[in-house]
Amino acid sequence: MTSPHTAPTVVTQAYTFALDPTAEQVSALRSHVGGSRFAYNALLALVQANWDENRAKKESGLTVTNDDYVSTSHFGLLYLWAEHRDELAPWWGENGSSTYNDAAQRLSKALTNWRKGRAKFPHFKRKGQGGSVRFLGNVVRLADSHHVRLARIGEVKTYESTRKLFRHLERGTGRVVAATVCERSGKWRVSFTVEVTRTLLATRTPERVIGIDVGITTLYTGATPDGTQVLEVANPRHFPRAEQRLAHAQRIASRRQGPKPGLASSKRWKKANARVQRIHATVRYTRGNLIHETTTMLAKNYDVIVVEDLNVAGMVKNHSLAKHISDAAWGEFTRQLEYKTTWYGSTLLRVDRFYPSSKTCSRCGTVKATLSLDERKYHCETCGLTTGRDLNAAINLARQGLPATSSGTGCGGEVRPGCLDNQAHPVEASTEAPTVVGA
Ligand SMILES: [Zn+2]
Repeated sequence: MTSPHTAPTVVTQAYTFALDPTAEQVSALRSHVGGSRFAYNALLALVQANWDENRAKKESGLTVTNDDYVSTSHFGLLYLWAEHRDELAPWWGENGSSTYNDAAQRLSKALTNWRKGRAKFPHFKRKGQGGSVRFLGNVVRLADSHHVRLARIGEVKTYESTRKLFRHLERGTGRVVAATVCERSGKWRVSFTVEVTRTLLATRTPERVIGIDVGITTLYTGATPDGTQVLEVANPRHFPRAEQRLAHAQRIASRRQGPKPGLASSKRWKKANARVQRIHATVRYTRGNLIHETTTMLAKNYDVIVVEDLNVAGMVKNHSLAKHISDAAWGEFTRQLEYKTTWYGSTLLRVDRFYPSSKTCSRCGTVKATLSLDERKYHCETCGLTTGRDLNAAINLARQGLPATSSGTGCGGEVRPGCLDNQAHPVEASTEAPTVVGA
């Protein structure tokens, strides 16, 4: 396999680390998050008051010029904040300037999105919904491989090693643009936006082909064109332990007094609900890691990765399936595969979503007229094949990744440029050692 290097390209990449702040740092971080929320709400109120005032002027017959309107650009809002901060928030000096800069930038963006019809009118941010604050590049850096240095907060310990990012910064191949610190379910995380210089690899000659079927109980099932299952990733939502703990915590919460109209929820309910949220968060992180691990492994080890081009946005509107689809994070999986295949020089092939990968028999090619969603086994009436539904689909998808000459059914999907113009070797593909990620 040849992989000549192409010119280095700058890509924006996110690095996220779980933080382990001290009690003192937690209160400082909360002050920054709260300050940012306060400034956002105050600025939104000032803008609305200005608009109301101008409307009233117009209605009473006065002329209103452009100069009467406050500027809602990032710098316009920063200026507005500087004008009013002493009166509205005499404590503003306790937090770093990033706090208010962040609020002005976010509100400006939200108003632009609303004007362009991309979002609803921004609403006031409520307390107690977590929240985050963005530090700009110059006030945040990595102290060493286990500490993040934030202005005004100090050195915050990270749970995981930040070695990968640390190396990029040391070698000068990475530059921190900003870092967002957020709290969710009592856990703190920092997410760095980094400009990384990468040498993208030229697309490889297709030798190893894998088809991936996405499912609900098993997140990802992968098979080679010869019918060998090489990948099985279980959905962390269905890890028996997580399911048991969640059911238990939900049962406790349901016995306590939750939020009802006109009634405050009890302290005991809040405590029980926090536990439920923590379990959800753990599942979310586990799944996030699994998606990253799986997509990296695939992009590194296979030349052609075939997936079904699911219309996720369209399917999420179907409410019965919606929860499960967002749960399995299908969109995120293909999104990551898309950029990681460019990094590692492999090819992502999306097969037309009308190709019946689930209904086709992977042994004899018979296509079933119907196959309901709850049939977990595939049984072929013609040749008697009985196999897992996901595996059957994955094999069919893998075969779509072979060039038309060696595949009976031909290429059913759209082929991205540069792929499959060389001969593939389906026999070699079968020598791939089984790779199992996750449980
Ligand atoms: Zn069959």
